[in-house]
Amino acid sequence: MAKVAINLSTGALQQEEVIVGIDLGTTNSLVAYIHPEDKKPIAINDQGRGTIVPSVVHFTQQGDTIVGTEAKDYLLSDPANTIYSVKRLLGKSYRDLGEHKDYFGYKIIDDDSEGLVKIRVQDKFYSPIELSAEILKELRERAEHALKTPVNRAVITVPAYFNDSQRQATRDAGKLAGLEVLRIVNEPTAAALAYGIGIDPNEEKTVAVYDLGGGTFDISILSIHQGIFEVLSTNGDTYLGGDDFDRAIINHWIQNNELIADTVNQDKHLSQELRLKAEEAKRTLSVQEVYTSTIDGRIDCHLERHTFETLIAPIVARTIESCRQAMGDAKLEAAQIDAVIMVGGSTRVPMVYEAVSEFFGKPANNNLNPDEVVALGAAIQADILAGNRKDILLLDVTPLTLGIETMGGLMDSIIPRNSKIPTKAGRQYTTSVDGQVNMKISVYQGERDLVKENRKLAEFDLKGIPSMPAGFPKVDVNFILNADGILKVEAIELRSGVKQEVEVKPQYGLTDEQVEQMLMDSITHAKDDVSARMVIEARTTAEQMLYQVERFLEKNGQHLTEEERQLTRENLQKLRDVLAANGDKDAIFVAIDRLEEQTSPFAERVMQISIKQAMAGKKIE
Ligand code: AMP
Repeated sequence: MAKVAINLSTGALQQEEVIVGIDLGTTNSLVAYIHPEDKKPIAINDQGRGTIVPSVVHFTQQGDTIVGTEAKDYLLSDPANTIYSVKRLLGKSYRDLGEHKDYFGYKIIDDDSEGLVKIRVQDKFYSPIELSAEILKELRERAEHALKTPVNRAVITVPAYFNDSQRQATRDAGKLAGLEVLRIVNEPTAAALAYGIGIDPNEEKTVAVYDLGGGTFDISILSIHQGIFEVLSTNGDTYLGGDDFDRAIINHWIQNNELIADTVNQDKHLSQELRLKAEEAKRTLSVQEVYTSTIDGRIDCHLERHTFETLIAPIVARTIESCRQAMGDAKLEAAQIDAVIMVGGSTRVPMVYEAVSEFFGKPANNNLNPDEVVALGAAIQADILAGNRKDILLLDVTPLTLGIETMGGLMDSIIPRNSKIPTKAGRQYTTSVDGQVNMKISVYQGERDLVKENRKLAEFDLKGIPSMPAGFPKVDVNFILNADGILKVEAIELRSGVKQEVEVKPQYGLTDEQVEQMLMDSITHAKDDVSARMVIEARTTAEQMLYQVERFLEKNGQHLTEEERQLTRENLQKLRDVLAANGDKDAIFVAIDRLEEQTSPFAERVMQISIKQAMAGKKIE
């Protein structure tokens, strides 16, 4: 049976649908989801075409687009209309490309107006966002076709080092492809999740993710604690990968075979065949000791694993050097790494596996398909966001503090900013006036000490509190913040069971800039806020004290001597005078202490009214 959810911003009913995880890669992309029955992540293999979709977009003469393996076939025959490695251009300006401008077989245009590059195909200009959207559309269609359901929401992964502009560009590409991008997740985070690391919120681990793909190499060191994934350092080379292994093999064959050396520059067919054979040799040598083949039955292509390893040793050594640097930046020793995770097709090369395991001093994890591991982790993240894993903490934090207004307009924080969500927190309050039957609960978001400086999210009345002396009702206010950032606030009066609750969406309508501004304000005004808070707290305590002691005199005055009554009245008046004169917090506290010292023995004498207890809890007006 399909689950039905309510969209809190529109109030509309919405059908719960699958959220996919997407690895939008430089060379290859994949889409994965959580199988509804066995709850395991699987990469989508639509119509037996394989799980990997090459990140290549080809424009036909008619202007249509083809994405994936079919498009890859045009890389050699029609390079000007076939776009690959577009991820390298996302969020980049022409200047950012620097020495790598010649890497691309298609036309990249310097577009001054936006500062970001465009790609010229035939007579049209495309942004890398539009081209990435084509790849995402293809993935979306494959997912919809395979799952037989509309796919409108996704989690997309990006390298840990992607900056804001690159992340935003990835988000925009998702939007263009008709996907609501619920989250942009770091690739190493996804890889760790796929291995189940970080799923238990109590787990604390330091993890190294070694990702060697076709054309890029990344090493990321992550610290995982309480469900939060923190990137300690990254290193790598955006132009180093399995393609370099292939090139090393081709060069070796050229150097050792005169027939190849003499013709390769003129013979396009031969150079193409050589590339294919080199990749085949590399893959074969991952599982065998020797590779033997021929091109067109006449040119011998032979390679032994030992020779291959000699060829690639300098490239592997460069990746290990990057690992060393990343570890240095993270200020860690190899022994402090709890797990090493292998990502990317090139980690299947045994020499790579061994070099990495040796460097970190422990066997690297490679049980999962290294091509799929990032997409699988993205699917797990999507499933968490869908709220299907109630046992798991969401790997996100709330950007601003959530709290309620207490006496004097003070913000009483209940869920501090940077708390991981979902989360639940509560606090007990009481009334400030005898016979108070309603309690106003005002919910705020922000870092300032005074609620008027923060943002009001909701307000409701807890009604029907049975009439009791001030300080007697016990009102539990609980904040429950779920995975989508929806906050439920409930207030329960424990003695009577009276209960009231509201739901609010704290993030709703706040832009990232506004959140940032609110944080900035809290820092700028921190000092003023603290002194203002202290005065308000002192005044509030004083007012409560006045109220309690006056009530006490009224009800229990007969138990006191005339002298005691007189002294109490004098001390009450002194406290009132300090308040009326807008005294500073020290003056107020001196008066409070004097009154308290003098009256506290009375409380013990008259057991049925506990002034101390009334003064202990915070009160809401
Ligand atoms: P990726 O970018 O992660 O999809 O990685 C693709 C790279 O992995 C390409 O350079 C492939 O040639 C390489 N690759 C895939 N399978 C193997 C294998 N069995 N042995 C060695 N390299 C492989």
